[in-house]
Amino acid sequence: MSQLRLNHLTGRWVTVATDRSTRPDDFSRERQAVETGPTRPCPFCPGNEEDVPSALESYGAGGEWAVRVVPNRFPAFAGTEQMTVRNLGPIFNQAPASGIHEVLIFSRDHLGGFADLDDEQVGGVMTAVRDRFEDHSRRPAVRYTQAIVNHGREGGASLVHPHGQLLGMPFVPGEIAEEEAGFRRFAGSCVLCTTAEAERDADARVVLDGDGVLVLCPYWSGAAYEMLVLPDEHGGHLARAEPKTLEAMGRAVRDVLVRLRDRLGDVSYNLVVHTLPYRHDDEFHWHIHVLPRIQSVGGFEQGTGVPINIVAPEQAAAQLRMG
Ligand SMILES: [Zn+2]
Ligand SMILES: [Zn+2]
Ligand SMILES: [Zn+2]
Repeated sequence: MSQLRLNHLTGRWVTVATDRSTRPDDFSRERQAVETGPTRPCPFCPGNEEDVPSALESYGAGGEWAVRVVPNRFPAFAGTEQMTVRNLGPIFNQAPASGIHEVLIFSRDHLGGFADLDDEQVGGVMTAVRDRFEDHSRRPAVRYTQAIVNHGREGGASLVHPHGQLLGMPFVPGEIAEEEAGFRRFAGSCVLCTTAEAERDADARVVLDGDGVLVLCPYWSGAAYEMLVLPDEHGGHLARAEPKTLEAMGRAVRDVLVRLRDRLGDVSYNLVVHTLPYRHDDEFHWHIHVLPRIQSVGGFEQGTGVPINIVAPEQAAAQLRMG
């Protein structure tokens, strides 16, 4: 059972998920080789469906799944208990890490990736995310769901087979609370609608524009080739977006990942969806961050939280824009 502990220096919660250390290959440098080896078949490949807990949702036509959502066998968050903080000493504050941890298997192709999906497949992935968010929103113990894709070793992928994760959490995480505060500081208009307008005018950092979605390398990019994928449709909750907006967002993410691969090769990256916490109705504009893991994070960034980006977003956008 995982546990939340409060870091009194930062005011942020830490998840201590000790059960996960039972994963035999967690600390192995040979992890990828082990998992694709013949002695251990991939649990996410077609034909091995029995190796993972049964699907919560399955999408696809003609009897073949295209997208499957299954419970994570080593959940970082589990249980239905609402967040109750126990104080076990002057600085020992803990709470159960309640919530949900699911795996979204988005391809049947073991060696594929998000960049290899066709339009129908990316549409299916976005529909699955929307459906799971709706499901999670009905659970009182879940206040926010973080949807992610980790690609490549530097991106933290623990299995080669393309998949994402949905982590339903019992508290609003610090990053989201900070972004919500950003929207509040920009009182009077939406900071991301304003960003879209200003970046279209400046025309220096736009990577892709059309189909109801804008992709740009943000002016404030903290990481090389970082991209922000932004729907034109203003709305705080991904789960309330129009189906055509969801599908267009999926296609845009796929298209810029193809360009990233064309320019830089098969680099590691993280996809991070940011949407309003459930039952929040603040000003917000849901979006997806594409975060290539090209530079390693060093002591300065760890110590200060101040990123040093060695590729100007103007330069990154110029490279990614070229057809
Ligand atoms: Zn596989
Ligand atoms: Zn907006
Ligand atoms: Zn964000």
